[in-house]
Amino acid sequence: MNNRPPFTHLVQALPQTMSFIDPGTLERHSGRALKLRLGANESSFGISPYAREAMREAVECLTLYADPQSYDLRAKLASIHGITMKNLVVGSGIDDLIGLVVRTFIQRGEVAVTSFGAYPTFNDHVMGYGGQLHFVPYKDYYNDLQGLGETAARLKARILYLVNPDNPTGTNHTSASLQMLIEQLSPECLLLLDEAYIDFAPTETVLPIDPNNPRVIRLRTFSKAYGLAGARIGYAIASQETIAAFEKIRLHFGVNRIAQVGALASLHDPEFLCHTISAVEQGRHDYEILAREQGFSILPSATNFVAINTGCSKRAKAIVKGLLERDVFVRMPSAPPLDQCIRITIGTSQERNTFAEIFRELLVSDKGVNFSFI
Ligand SMILES: *Cc1c(COP(=O)(O)O)cnc(C)c1O
Repeated sequence: MNNRPPFTHLVQALPQTMSFIDPGTLERHSGRALKLRLGANESSFGISPYAREAMREAVECLTLYADPQSYDLRAKLASIHGITMKNLVVGSGIDDLIGLVVRTFIQRGEVAVTSFGAYPTFNDHVMGYGGQLHFVPYKDYYNDLQGLGETAARLKARILYLVNPDNPTGTNHTSASLQMLIEQLSPECLLLLDEAYIDFAPTETVLPIDPNNPRVIRLRTFSKAYGLAGARIGYAIASQETIAAFEKIRLHFGVNRIAQVGALASLHDPEFLCHTISAVEQGRHDYEILAREQGFSILPSATNFVAINTGCSKRAKAIVKGLLERDVFVRMPSAPPLDQCIRITIGTSQERNTFAEIFRELLVSDKGVNFSFI
């Protein structure tokens, strides 16, 4: 009576895990609203007023399906990046596009390489499509480019996934180092370069776009610097052949109309982007002073968050827990040795002041108790 077809072997074999506990779940658990939401690297600096206006207007057209080609947005992106529209696909965020890349390139049992403790959505997709993951440890909180390249070659990996600037560390490699990695890549391996934070990075980090290199795929998003995380929109830059392959299998109506016009309008407001980037820079500086004052160091960041190194994973855990008890949401990496760090999104100056107050109070009040090892 209650029978159903069996789940696929692949699904049966997957563990019931979730990479992230979302802030809503945390609020339901505590029964209180969060005071500070600084755990998901969402922008505290809002969205472009152009985007707000365009998205409000688009509400009136929601009876119509969105443009499955994202034509206008792709046309604008092509002109900004000096590539053709055939080098671009728009998806509902990088998370969606990572899935598309993995599905296109990884067959059952094939290998993908990533850093141990790197952005976990990639891992979820590789597992979900039956691939095999191999991890390379970070080297002094930087992605170990040489280690990643060598491991990918040794294991005949199909995809080497690299986040630059990195999450969760915030550290970044120069485009010259990336170029060396690309040159050493075997012909059977793809570099999947996740550039979610590229807008915050110094120019020497930005690898020139070469749409004719079939072994590099770049992923960009409107979620971070443009502040459109809840709209779900991002894009991939790749060779025409690869984009054509994506076209065969992607979810053609997966990107909504509001996100499309919001993203396009944002691109017409570079001033707003500059404002956000410089506000974030100021915020990184403030957090650095705060961390130093408390005797912690901070990893160099080219992103809209900082990782504070507390020197000990127990201490980091206790701090994240203590902050959550005070309704402050931050995250920490779970993989050692990154788990000595806590990761805090750059808030507005008001949010930063509130954070500093609570952080200081927590560290003082718990000294000699939970933090006796400080
Ligand atoms: C935030 C983040 C993403 C998510 O991007 P979406 O476009 O919102 O899916 C992807 N990769 C990294 C490294 C991130 O930090």
